[in-house]
Amino acid sequence: MTQGCSRLKVISAVFFFPLRAFLARLGIRYDLSFIINNYYQEKFNSIPAAQKAVILPHCLIGDKCPAHFSKEDGILCSKCKKCGCGEIRALAEEQGWQFYITPSTGFTKRLVQRKTIRAAVGAACNFEIEKGIRSTPINTKGVHLQREKVIPQIILTARYDCLNNDIDWEHLKRIIRGETF
Ligand code: SF4
Repeated sequence: MTQGCSRLKVISAVFFFPLRAFLARLGIRYDLSFIINNYYQEKFNSIPAAQKAVILPHCLIGDKCPAHFSKEDGILCSKCKKCGCGEIRALAEEQGWQFYITPSTGFTKRLVQRKTIRAAVGAACNFEIEKGIRSTPINTKGVHLQREKVIPQIILTARYDCLNNDIDWEHLKRIIRGETF
């Protein structure tokens, strides 16, 4: 058990997430990313830096993003400062982590296998999280991406929107620095 967050709480939070609208009508609300992050934080921080990655969705990149796309590594951020991703890339690299911007969930799964990623902080909207829960087993050992098991930390995007989206960038920086929240 980490920080008072039990296995049962994580399993229930994941299991009931697709029913969140119904539960909210009954007055039951919970923050899935907070429960997941709290539960996995200690394990996440114990993974060697080189096997950790920040994996951001393409919806966060700027309108006039000049980055090229690589089939191997996704969107290659050049740290142009037209969106928040460049600063995150610099911070991740400073910590010895890998950094990627991914165009899709399928690409992310292949990336994790190719790059030996054992822990990843990613951003997603509720819709993508629900889709992920339906297609990818997540339990108290981590997220099972095909043959690999990845220890997650999650940041919610501000909206369900594939363009000009936003996240709590300061929260993401705290996760990368290994600060508690
Ligand atoms: S900082 Fe990176 S991701 Fe953002 S617009 Fe510039 S090149 Fe694109």
